[in-house]
Amino acid sequence: MLIARNGIVDGAEAEVFGWVLSVREQKTVVFLIVYENRRQVQLVIKERKLMSRGIKQNASIWARGTIRTTDRAPNGFEIHVSSIKVLSRPKKLPPFNIMAAELPSLDLRLDYRALDLRRPKNIAIFTLRSKILQYFREYFVSKDFVEVQTPKIIATASEGGAALFPLMYYDKQAFLAQSPQLYKEELTMAFERVFEIGPIFRAEPSRTLKHLSEAISLDAEMAYLNNDEIMDVLEDMVKYVIRRVYERDRDLIERIRAPVIDLPDRFPRYTYSEVVKWINENVEELQEGEDLQAKHLEAFGGHVGGFYFIKEWPLKLKPFYIKPKDDFYSYSFDLMYRDTELSSGGERIHDPAMLRKGLKRVGLSPKGFKYHLLPYYYGMPPHGGFGFGVDRFMMVITGVDNIREVVLYPRDMRRLVP
Ligand code: ATP
Ligand code: MG
Repeated sequence: MLIARNGIVDGAEAEVFGWVLSVREQKTVVFLIVYENRRQVQLVIKERKLMSRGIKQNASIWARGTIRTTDRAPNGFEIHVSSIKVLSRPKKLPPFNIMAAELPSLDLRLDYRALDLRRPKNIAIFTLRSKILQYFREYFVSKDFVEVQTPKIIATASEGGAALFPLMYYDKQAFLAQSPQLYKEELTMAFERVFEIGPIFRAEPSRTLKHLSEAISLDAEMAYLNNDEIMDVLEDMVKYVIRRVYERDRDLIERIRAPVIDLPDRFPRYTYSEVVKWINENVEELQEGEDLQAKHLEAFGGHVGGFYFIKEWPLKLKPFYIKPKDDFYSYSFDLMYRDTELSSGGERIHDPAMLRKGLKRVGLSPKGFKYHLLPYYYGMPPHGGFGFGVDRFMMVITGVDNIREVVLYPRDMRRLVP
């Protein structure tokens, strides 16, 4: 916290509360870089008696002094200190220097995550993450969506595929929600357009750089739009947020040293069949109907470059609620960035008899979904939407290759603490 009487002008009196990022001692002067409210402020100590306070990295301090504007300090000013107090002194030597150029292993950093988050790059990453969440909300609110929260303790699976985390719910078996899918669909009945930003839980046995057991998903669901119109919304949302970031948060992007993302006028849209054809011509033999593997997406993603859609997937690769196009294909899509899947979406079934058929198609019992089927008998509107991985998007925006770098306290097969 910085309290500057008369604002940041040369000669004004100021008080600062913050923590020490670095200490540079010279013969007649000590420079401190202090983080106050996620911004760096330079303190200059010239008085002998104030220099002997033994102030170290990570200490929390209070100081008072006079503002001097200068180009040599971060943010164009420094404070010449007239009094300073240590409010909290580190009791142990930290396991790594948060200013060091050479990083310790991610595992060690995650063990000391609260401390690791003090690294300037991390402060920038998570400040940006907070801004980006705000921009998503801005976008949806401007399009007249209602923000909703759906239960995270649920009775039945929604996605199939990735396994569920079971838990005891009093005397019953329950699960942590894999996605808000079924609830957000039901909510289009009353609200037409809804979105939710919340956790999804997946017992992912894989240990990849893109999967966590707990991730944050941005889900949107809309009545009356077809597959391509839903892709339009998703594309528009991604462009809105990226443009906003480059408009407003250049300083954070620079501090993160994030690559600048090229936004084409329109994200190319390939059908699944077109991609399969390309794989057959350029990578290896692949049957129509088989899932695209990592090596296929690496090749195709490298060929395309940035954002693109793969649409109209085989029905058998998609969940029960997705609307069939014919006997083989579906009204579905994935949004990709190179070889990373950012989002899956599509049109949904709104007819109850068809939805029962969908459940049977994937080997689920309509009985188990009785409560979900129920509203479908009372005029469920045609609808569709998408689930969009916020953590995956943060990987793209910041250019990191491990999803754990953009999540405060990542959860995976090996990590449940801190
Ligand atoms: P993948 O094929 O990459 O495992 P998925 O197809 O199983 O993902 P969806 O059910 O389509 O995932 O979920 C929608 C979006 O949520 C994904 O496109 C992705 O961005 C994000 N997501 C899904 N699972 C995870 C996870 N375990 N960790 C991080 N993000 C995830
Ligand atoms: Mg998917």
